[in-house]
Amino acid sequence: MKLYNTLTRKIQDFVPQNPPYVTLYACGPTVYDYTHIGHARKYTMDDILVRTLRHAGFEVKFVRNITDVGHLSSDSDTGEDKMEKGAKKYGTSVWDVARKFEDYFHHSMDLMGNVRPNITSRVTEHIQSQLDLVQKLEAKGFTYVIPGDGVYFDTSKFPRYGELAKLNKEGIQEGARVEMVAGKRNPTDFALWKFEREGENRAMIWPSPWSARSFPGWHIECSAIGMEHLGEQIDIHTGGIDHIPVHHTNEIAQSEAASGKHPFVRYWVHHNFLSVEGQKMSKSLNNFFTIEDLIKKDYEPMAFRLLLLSAHYRSEMNFTWKNMEGAQITWERLKDKIQVLLKEKETSLEPTEEQRELAEELKKHFFAAVENDLHTPEALAVMWEMLSSSLTAQQKYHLLLNFDEIFGLSLASIEPSEQEPVPGDVADLVAERKEARESKNWALSDDLRSRIQDLGFDVIDDGDEQILQKKR
Ligand code: AMP
Ligand code: ZN
Repeated sequence: MKLYNTLTRKIQDFVPQNPPYVTLYACGPTVYDYTHIGHARKYTMDDILVRTLRHAGFEVKFVRNITDVGHLSSDSDTGEDKMEKGAKKYGTSVWDVARKFEDYFHHSMDLMGNVRPNITSRVTEHIQSQLDLVQKLEAKGFTYVIPGDGVYFDTSKFPRYGELAKLNKEGIQEGARVEMVAGKRNPTDFALWKFEREGENRAMIWPSPWSARSFPGWHIECSAIGMEHLGEQIDIHTGGIDHIPVHHTNEIAQSEAASGKHPFVRYWVHHNFLSVEGQKMSKSLNNFFTIEDLIKKDYEPMAFRLLLLSAHYRSEMNFTWKNMEGAQITWERLKDKIQVLLKEKETSLEPTEEQRELAEELKKHFFAAVENDLHTPEALAVMWEMLSSSLTAQQKYHLLLNFDEIFGLSLASIEPSEQEPVPGDVADLVAERKEARESKNWALSDDLRSRIQDLGFDVIDDGDEQILQKKR
């Protein structure tokens, strides 16, 4: 198994500390608003990673947190509290907002077919372990207090600070803007624990040795929860690429400073973003979509999953409705092919030696692709190649379910349909004809219709739809 490690900027052989055990931590969502399709991309690719590791024989302990505590909207310990913002927007309490969107997150993950982590940890239920960690850092001399503001981590006391993000001498990533909080000793110092300001009247507050009304800073949660459940050194830690310069950089500093152990994480896996029609997803641009929005437009979550698999997790991905439509058509083609296999496999002949060898080869190719830094686009290509190969229906169906242990498209749950299955080549011609009609290539469309008729089917046009019927 090979993984790209942000720490070394290289694709490396994956070797956990205690094989076959693997400890894996994923930064969870901040539950102050709806889970969107960008989140779905990140967590689905986490799921592919976990499935691939498990398939390769590793025993993975997968922990993910739920950020249900108020954090400031800026990475530099300034700005509005996200949970309070959510509460105001939805006219409810911060606690209700947190539970509502935590439930929505799990619901979205279930729709996507993602396996739940072994442990899901709410930040509000790990306040004591976060406090303990800050006190440990204080005892070791890594902290200072800014009165009326919070307990800060002194990054000048941690010489390796910024290694992950390759920060410059001042500890700042080229081009990054740093808002300076009054009283910070270094621009990169960050809050470990925050104090409620006068008159703020926050809903989520806890007593601490420094203030009766206070709350954790935004990075401490992942160090505390990660170390509590997985130990002081973790094999794999995932997150979006936005977390590299600040959140993960700070997680490393506070964890290694507290434990005295290096590295806190052996392999840092970072996921690239999903944009919509070339733009960042945001409510104000009206391009913020949930999985349920896709369903409302008659797109199936598994079709979206198929679309996600078509891009490598480290490349930027641009969601367009045209691609979504294409993915739905592809998904339907796949389901049609499965219907044919379900029918044909009952009467499948024993495979020949040649067919057995071909199946082995395709299987090897598939798993080599996913075990090489999760190359799902290549793995998908192997799947299609396999489906149109000379293998028996029984072999194809068997391999497909095997591949689906990684893809997670729930293919095993597809039941034989009552309807006469549409043979794969007819379905391909119908898909081609749809494209021909969309590009107004009528000559090609007519030609494809007669080829469909030659295969014993008729196609009737109903607006944009093609209705397929078996010729009598
Ligand atoms: P948040 O709830 O904003 O903390 O995000 C949870 C996770 O989703 C983080 O790892 C983010 O990097 C990731 N994420 C947020 N927006 C997107 C997006 N548009 N595409 C991919 N991942 C995202
Ligand atoms: Zn985190």
